[in-house]
Amino acid sequence: MVSRVIPVDPFDLVIFGGTGDLARRKILPGLFRRYCSGQMPADARIIGAARSDLDADGYRQLVRDAIDEFGGKTTCNDVDAFLANLDYVTVDARGDQGWEELAGKMRPGVIHAHYFSVGPGLFGDIAERLNRFGIAHDDSRVVVEKPFGRDLASAKELNASLAAQFDESQIYRIDHYLGKETVQNLMALRFGNLLFEPLWNAQYIDHIQITVAETVGVGGRGAYYDKSGAMRDMVQNHLMQLLCLIAMEPPSKFEPDSVRDEKLKVIRALQPLEPHEIVRGQYEANDTQSGYREDAENDRSSTESYIALKVALANWRWSGVPFYLRTGKRLSARSSEIAVVFKKMPHSIFEESDNEQANILAIQLQPNEGMTLDVTIKEPGPGGMRLVHVPLDMTFAEALGEDADAPDAYERLIMDVIRGNQTLFMRGDEVEAAWRWTDPIISGWQARNDVPKTYDIGSSGPMDAHMLLHRDGRKWRDIKQ
Ligand code: NAP
Repeated sequence: MVSRVIPVDPFDLVIFGGTGDLARRKILPGLFRRYCSGQMPADARIIGAARSDLDADGYRQLVRDAIDEFGGKTTCNDVDAFLANLDYVTVDARGDQGWEELAGKMRPGVIHAHYFSVGPGLFGDIAERLNRFGIAHDDSRVVVEKPFGRDLASAKELNASLAAQFDESQIYRIDHYLGKETVQNLMALRFGNLLFEPLWNAQYIDHIQITVAETVGVGGRGAYYDKSGAMRDMVQNHLMQLLCLIAMEPPSKFEPDSVRDEKLKVIRALQPLEPHEIVRGQYEANDTQSGYREDAENDRSSTESYIALKVALANWRWSGVPFYLRTGKRLSARSSEIAVVFKKMPHSIFEESDNEQANILAIQLQPNEGMTLDVTIKEPGPGGMRLVHVPLDMTFAEALGEDADAPDAYERLIMDVIRGNQTLFMRGDEVEAAWRWTDPIISGWQARNDVPKTYDIGSSGPMDAHMLLHRDGRKWRDIKQ
């Protein structure tokens, strides 16, 4: 089965921060792949904008190098044709240089999108200048990157600075987890099949685990990370979004505000956490590898590189069902997974009842995307009724085959911006509600002077995280690729 590619309408996309790391690693190689797939029209244009003194040719060379380094597997050799669509303007987000020139480059009659691939401190400045220099109009779209604030107050400020210049319908807040194929497949599975929805509640589901595990440490961004930590960097946005999609009620339509209204209700139903429902950790140095505090260059740091939470939702569907969330760095494997663990059978008719295990629907997001449903079947062959528990592969990867053109999350989301579809982007009130829940948790451990527990590099986190589930008679799934 080959995925259908529907070309988008012609556009001018300005990438503020077009020389930066994110643009070079993700945005530009992603746009090149969309060009190769035929989704990006031949007359679409991409305009890099940053302070660096480059001309269009200099920028094309920078983008060619980025495609060489980060372009990944593509059979397309049309780099020159793609680069011919590129342009560059030297602008300072905080000055007035270059803005008139940018205004002159925007073509009338095509879609205009502005990607703010810069630090959030520049969002307001760029938004204001886009309007002041007559570049933005009622149909223009702006795309903003995480982090969207570091607490409720700063998120409100950012929202206000964008709202002063743009309508909410023009603002696309990116969370690239929402652009993943399997995350969307989760919605198809829940709302496109009758099979799962009747079981999707406290009556049949025992608990849900959401894991985002990384093997890398904080590396070169230690100083930045030390001001943030796993709660701000991962839970408030990525894990929260995954939780929303798992837990939300069926929206009346698959359209932006219906979906986002339901996600918002989930965030608002989150219960405040007690200290014993939170485990924070820091990876510890060993003989050959540096620990978190060395990486963060702060030998007294109490920032968490790992966090595990037991979260509850106060609503009818999920009453009594714990959601266990964990994320951390320097763990045993790079693996992101949502596991829906169903309840055990109420009664066993088989002698070998020990072998009866709960059904588990596991949705893998990283490193490979996929979906499995663990079911109990009879072990094949003669010799009585022996039961085995096997994973049923629900990814249909073989059916889709190598030809399946699965764009990465950034590519898909940028094409959604051009199409004007906000379904997979966070609305301002969602982000604020997430911070409203997160803020007291962080201020709580600050007030208690909470010190994270240590954990070994290459482990699955601190022992206390295991106890969090053990106390409830449950256990974490193995972290494996
Ligand atoms: P970066 O490598 O530091 O790039 C920043 C970009 O902004 C550069 O192109 C820089 O170019 C430009 N810039 C800085 N000050 C400017 C100004 N006053 N006026 C105009 N342009 C200016 O940062 P990044 O890693 O690409 O990250 C960009 C944003 O994406 C950040 O908000 C980050 O948190 C977010 N993000 C990044 C990643 C990632 O993987 N890198 C992932 C998720 C989110 P000049 O110096 O030439 O002006």
